[in-house]
Amino acid sequence: MPVVFFGHGSPMNVIDDNRYTQAWREIGRTLPRPKAILSISAHWFTEGVAVTAMEQPKTIHDFYGFPKALYEMRYPAAGSPSLARQVPELLAPLDVALDQEWGLDHGTWSVLVHAYPEADVPVVQLSIDSTQPGAFHYDVGRRLAPLRDQGVLIAGTGNVVHNLRLLVRDGNAPAFDWTKRFNDRVRELIERREHAPLIAWEELGDDACLAINSSEHYLPLLYCLGLQRDDEPSRFAVDGLELGSLSMLSVVIGG
Ligand code: ZN
Repeated sequence: MPVVFFGHGSPMNVIDDNRYTQAWREIGRTLPRPKAILSISAHWFTEGVAVTAMEQPKTIHDFYGFPKALYEMRYPAAGSPSLARQVPELLAPLDVALDQEWGLDHGTWSVLVHAYPEADVPVVQLSIDSTQPGAFHYDVGRRLAPLRDQGVLIAGTGNVVHNLRLLVRDGNAPAFDWTKRFNDRVRELIERREHAPLIAWEELGDDACLAINSSEHYLPLLYCLGLQRDDEPSRFAVDGLELGSLSMLSVVIGG
């Protein structure tokens, strides 16, 4: 199975029809049909690592001040306890908790509602350990590779540039210069398969500090890059800069 990094952006993408949501639909239509999805979402940022292990994960509406229609949305995909149980085995000796409380947060379902609108593929979420450096996340991704051979779609969902503090709440706002520069730099490094500077993103200078002022939206990309084999191509499914400080870049690896 290919690996996908979704740049999910605003929760409004749940109900909007735009070039990003169209690209996500295209991904769902064109990739081989997955047996299950393992999602690594910016919105499950924890101490330690956990994986959702319930039969039926709930839809989490983890956003505030949006239209009522968004809060009424449900994404009723099943879970997959059997897939969840494989994750601690693959990541041993890392301690991975089998979680019964979380569910599907909007990082996951806001893109899957487009990519797999029938919600007929089981979904499991893996949390991001907020206490760990880039190399840890890259390595966890790499160790999940055997799941790809079982037909599991591993999806990261975040944003390469995501600075909420500097976000301009105007749909026509141009991107900041540093937004464009950092997004271009990430694209270039992905194209050249130079993962080391992306793993050590703190050393990429001032643009990186602004683009990644908190790391939870960036880190899902590292899991995806950790899964890229040496001979495997990547492509940019869609890209765009929104609200000054948001990159909507989505990356497909191996598909
Ligand atoms: Zn988000």
